[in-house]
Amino acid sequence: MTSIKLARSDLFKNQAYVNGRWQNAPAAATFAVHDPATGELLAEVADLDAAATTQAVAAARQAFAHWSSITAKQRSEYLLAWYQLIMQHSDDLAMLITREQGKPLAEAKGEISYAASFVQWFAEEAKRAYGELIPSPWPGSRIQVLRQPIGVVASITPWNFPAAMITRKATPALAAGCPVVIKPSEETPLTALALAVLAEQAGLPAGVFNIVTSNQAAAVGEVLSTHPDVAMLSFTGSTAVGKLLMKQCASTVKKSAMELGGNAPFIVFDDADLDAAVDGLMQSKFRNTGQTCVCANRIFVQDAVYDNFANKLQARVSELKHGQGTADNVTLGPLINRGGLDKVSRLVDAAVQAGAECRWRADINGLDQQRYYPATLLTNVQTGMDITKEEIFGPVAALIRFSNEQEVIRAANDTRAGLAAYFYARDIGRIWRVQEALEYGIVGVNAGLFSTEVAPFGGVKESGHGREGSHHGMEEFLEIKYVLHAGLGE
Ligand code: ADP
Repeated sequence: MTSIKLARSDLFKNQAYVNGRWQNAPAAATFAVHDPATGELLAEVADLDAAATTQAVAAARQAFAHWSSITAKQRSEYLLAWYQLIMQHSDDLAMLITREQGKPLAEAKGEISYAASFVQWFAEEAKRAYGELIPSPWPGSRIQVLRQPIGVVASITPWNFPAAMITRKATPALAAGCPVVIKPSEETPLTALALAVLAEQAGLPAGVFNIVTSNQAAAVGEVLSTHPDVAMLSFTGSTAVGKLLMKQCASTVKKSAMELGGNAPFIVFDDADLDAAVDGLMQSKFRNTGQTCVCANRIFVQDAVYDNFANKLQARVSELKHGQGTADNVTLGPLINRGGLDKVSRLVDAAVQAGAECRWRADINGLDQQRYYPATLLTNVQTGMDITKEEIFGPVAALIRFSNEQEVIRAANDTRAGLAAYFYARDIGRIWRVQEALEYGIVGVNAGLFSTEVAPFGGVKESGHGREGSHHGMEEFLEIKYVLHAGLGE
């Protein structure tokens, strides 16, 4: 059936998981999932339509009464059991990620640990949905604040983190007492289904965790964003689709959480530790072959250290190794699809045409040039070029020269995106000024990697709203109810 070699072959599924049952799509419709490294057909997966999605919402709605009424400790125990199973089968889950998404196996393993960390964290947080008692201004009365689960949560997730984007959304909702209906990306449904196998094994009751696989994103998305029984929609993906979903959510005044595109500035000041800055940039820029929404997109380097930094960076970029994610020592995999590759080529070609210099370009002879894009270092990039305005989503570092702090802050904030920013500096006054001036939801100061389950991840401006991870992550799924008790006696 498939060429994916797993220690536990039942983790490979091609049916959707709805209401505790594995099911085909109406009329047995399917869509194809391919290995981005080779184009090999990996699976034909159930292609659920709007009607089947409506049934999944009904199942979740039905499950809500039970799931929200059991104790927080019981929900916590289900999540912990799931966490343990995910860790136990991390090799198989990583293999599924690498085969359907393309990232190197070591990174895929890292993603599974990261994905599992949310399950564990929210298993712990489940027990901490505290209420409040507020001193009342009226005699004989008390003011209570309850935190209650919002209801059925729908999630639409992208392909770049096939496991982590699911657990980061689903587990705070589940911990809060909300059943979830998830539509994974059509590029990467196999990891999502394997997570469902393990959720089922962990004993999650029917209807609590549903995976609606589909290639009909607009139709399924319409149900999930307009159905009155969906209380909240949590989306990660492009800004364009996020805006459309927010409009659709308006019809039922549905709460939404949006993790949309970024355009991360990465600023290297002249007092920075340059070796540390190069290390941080390599982590931020090239992880997942440049396909993350927090990848450094615009690399601003101050005059005095520009040439030195570019030389050091070139040495490191030239060490990157392209290839199939399952091969040893590979650090850069294929891009997800032809559309992604065409976009990177267009941005680089236009930048070079407009005067950017191609300082380094990896040799990828021997690899399929329709699937891989060579690691590239561009210097003399100017703000205003398309490559500074769009998310590159590929292994291309674009260096922009700047001369002073005010100028670079203005340039860094000159975008509608506001997800992640990075800067390297040692001067303490500068660090405080710059971290406060950057209009971003996340700032890495002398750090190229910051994602962790214990901290709030999310953006401002058109990068979205809502936070994932940390205790703030569960708050999103809890409604506040104010209860006034009167007539209690003086
Ligand atoms: P990307 O460019 O990263 O693929 P998308 O926003 O297109 O970003 O995809 C992210 C998720 O949104 C995927 O699960 C995709 O199927 C889904 N999606 C795409 N178009 C729509 C739509 N019109 N309505 C709802 N979901 C959509």
